[in-house]
Amino acid sequence: MTIASINPSNNETLREFDALDKDEIEKIVSTAHDAFQHWRRTPLADRKKCLLKFADLLRADADEYARTITLDMGKRISESKYEIEYCANIADFYANGAEGFLADQSMDVEKIDAYLHYEPIGVLLGVMPWNFPFYQVVRFAAPNIMAGNTVMVKHASNVPQCAAVIEELFTECGLPRGVYNNLFIPTDFVESIISDKRVQGVSLTGSEPAGAAVASLAGKNLKRSVLELGGNDPFIVLDDADLDQTIEHAVKGRVVNAGQSCVASKRFIVVKEVAEQFIAGLKKQMAALKMGDPMDEETTLAPLSSEKAAVDLMEQVQASINAGAAVLLGGDRPDRDGAFFNPTILTDVTPDNPTFDQELFGPVATVYVVDDEAAAIKLANNSSYGLGGSVFTSDIERGRRVAEQVETGMMFINQPTKSQAELPFGGIKNSGYGRELSHLGILEFVNKKLIHLG
Ligand code: NDP
Repeated sequence: MTIASINPSNNETLREFDALDKDEIEKIVSTAHDAFQHWRRTPLADRKKCLLKFADLLRADADEYARTITLDMGKRISESKYEIEYCANIADFYANGAEGFLADQSMDVEKIDAYLHYEPIGVLLGVMPWNFPFYQVVRFAAPNIMAGNTVMVKHASNVPQCAAVIEELFTECGLPRGVYNNLFIPTDFVESIISDKRVQGVSLTGSEPAGAAVASLAGKNLKRSVLELGGNDPFIVLDDADLDQTIEHAVKGRVVNAGQSCVASKRFIVVKEVAEQFIAGLKKQMAALKMGDPMDEETTLAPLSSEKAAVDLMEQVQASINAGAAVLLGGDRPDRDGAFFNPTILTDVTPDNPTFDQELFGPVATVYVVDDEAAAIKLANNSSYGLGGSVFTSDIERGRRVAEQVETGMMFINQPTKSQAELPFGGIKNSGYGRELSHLGILEFVNKKLIHLG
């Protein structure tokens, strides 16, 4: 079996990689397990050196790695460059911060001398998606490698060039053999890897079905898991919002990564006083997006990651229209080669519409007009997802009040949800569990061991 890189802007096959067989997988698990016995005892200063070098290598050839991302999955080249720089920042953040994050924590209990001591737990599996093919991997690998774990990554099958380059970089930065391992495997092999006694945990970013499958395997085998799944982020616009800025944020928040981000703004919930103006501005700016070659810096709307992704999105949009959604803009695909999708705005999506509670992974905005703030919060919470969200208002206290009532893992005031190395990232409900990034991200797969000194 082969794993192919297909350029989504013209559907041309660029490169094929052989998938691993059972014996090769066994060798990798065994190498990762052996490497853990040494890596867990490698001084933090040595681990730090490797990760800082990894960041340097990323920065030194950022343009080349950005090209690899854009060729594999079609993202705009400027977004790919940003992704590489962001990965270098994450590596720096954990390289420099790990000592503090992993320092012993004294327990403040009267008459007892005790502390928490953090230890790595072993070999981890990462199951990663294609939408941010470097970032998702680095977000998982950097903290865990600094913590002393060893990692194996099964990357999404449409980004094999990225998967191969990331492994090369982790080798070149000086990590001992077996600390970082790429697994070119189909999903069928994930079960045997999770159930392997040498594997101690699994982290997955992806869709709900993939998350549920991996979580049930982890549960069955009593392994720790972290899940970062889809989102249907509300973007609440209150009557006192600065509409010009809000509309700009709405467009950026929706079409980031051609709309294929778990924390893209997806449900635009607007109070009636400003609805007409907001919708008119959103329509104008979405219609003005320039679709084209993602390698061209002038392009503002890239193709989706694959022809299949575009076909699937078209099916969802059609089902929504069939169930009564009104099309304010787009609603279809352009007549050109590549996995492109027209910028789309849907309204009149009622709770019985099939897409009401689905994630639309592309440049499709759904707009809801509500009576007031309370109705906006109620609608925002009427979702099985709970990842991020945002609220737009000129009154920060009001924004805070609304943010605290929305059921998500992250809320942003006057900007769309975003991620940053220093801030925790993750959701609730069907968006998954656990936190990545920040000091919390490095503590997901460590043994928080109690040492009691009497
Ligand atoms: P998937 O969830 O199928 O893929 C993500 C990763 O999970 C890939 O490595 C994939 O492998 C793997 N995977 C898929 N099914 C299983 C399984 N049963 N057991 C173990 N691993 C599995 O995402 P898709 O690419 O199919 O995208 C579908 C939808 O998922 C999107 O439209 C979007 O709604 C959501 N999504 C959300 C993401 C996020 O950032 N939260 C990222 C990507 C998708 P392989 O590629 O080999 O199938």
